[in-house]
Amino acid sequence: MILFNINMATILIVLVLGHLLTGALIIAYTWQQNRSKAVNMFLLSKLLQPAAWVMLGVRGFVPSVVLVAVGNSTLFIGAALELIALMILKGNYTETVRRSYRVLLIGFTMVFIAVTACGFPENVRITFASSITAILMIFPVFKLFIDKNASKLQKVIAVLYSLTILFLIFRAIAALTTDLDMNLASTSIFNTWLFLLLYIVMLVGSTGFILLDKEKQDAELLKSASYDGLTNILNRKTFILRSKELISSSLRKQEKISFLLIDIDDFKKINDKYGHFVGDAVLQDFADTLKKQLGNQDLFGRYGGEEFAILLPGSDEKNVEEAAERLRLTVENSTADADLKIKYTISIGFYSVLPDEGTDIDMLYKLCDQALYLAKSHGKNCCRSASEI
Ligand code: GH3
Ligand code: MG
Ligand code: MG
Repeated sequence: MILFNINMATILIVLVLGHLLTGALIIAYTWQQNRSKAVNMFLLSKLLQPAAWVMLGVRGFVPSVVLVAVGNSTLFIGAALELIALMILKGNYTETVRRSYRVLLIGFTMVFIAVTACGFPENVRITFASSITAILMIFPVFKLFIDKNASKLQKVIAVLYSLTILFLIFRAIAALTTDLDMNLASTSIFNTWLFLLLYIVMLVGSTGFILLDKEKQDAELLKSASYDGLTNILNRKTFILRSKELISSSLRKQEKISFLLIDIDDFKKINDKYGHFVGDAVLQDFADTLKKQLGNQDLFGRYGGEEFAILLPGSDEKNVEEAAERLRLTVENSTADADLKIKYTISIGFYSVLPDEGTDIDMLYKLCDQALYLAKSHGKNCCRSASEI
């Protein structure tokens, strides 16, 4: 069948060019950036893999045991580097994994060279080469699968890599148990499928890696743009944005919503007495203490300086009064800085409302700011409702 007859030389050239051009594109894309270790590792693999294919490709014309040994070893190392780059990117490349991969790679390469040098038939070499590549792939692909926060992109990449593992295992078994012609120069249907798969893996591996890297960078960028750098809670801009969504959702559900404005008492004195760095540590401690008291649906953000805001969906006057008092007491009973054991207190202005079309965060802020002023003028370390005004 002419449809399935692929010229191996063409496929090899396309594979080599594919690796090299992807590498060139990644270099151009990351030109102005500080290239990460994962990207550098990936680029090295994009250099080794085409070099290996060239060595294995010319083998058909220049028969040589050395070319087979060096070519295949380069291919293992190239493939391993690509997988290592993926593991670094996903944060799975721990010290133990690093050591295991070094041992595996050195061991496998030496065994393969020995098998080649001892003149074992080609089918034995194919079984070794396919099994080695499959074994190297199993751990990173398994990690991609079990990741709880895996994106759709990551899942698709994991499935495609898994198919490759299955094919490699099948190839390893078939090389030993059948008389299918698997010689690299052969144009058998089996080889055609193998090379098509290798081409797809090259495409998926390269595009997938870059997309995963981009996905990670985007997530980091979004996080740094949405969170306060010191306390690691929402910044004012994101708090306001999210609160609009929460108010709309409460309006739809016709449920009450409560806003709390919190200010640390006499914070200037803490700064004056212990210095600005300790002041920062108190702010971090305060945010951590409060985070533990809040639910997943509650919004908590830093409005500025030592002023914080909380939005509690589904909470009425009674709930918010209890919540405010609980938070005030928690802070009063806590200490910041393990060595200095700093005691500090907070004042809270709060308000609960059944939202209508006119309810917005600015209005809630203004009301609670007045309630907070009331709390401060009543001697601080207390909570006041805006309904008292
Ligand atoms: P009150 O009880 O009336 O709220 O008094 P206060 O001292 O807490 O309030 P004031 O507004 O006078 O002082 C707030 C201080 O918070 C002044 C400012 O230097 C300090 N501050 C604001 N942001 C930061 C920060 O990020 N880190 C530190 N260490 N201090 C900050
Ligand atoms: Mg204050
Ligand atoms: Mg203040």
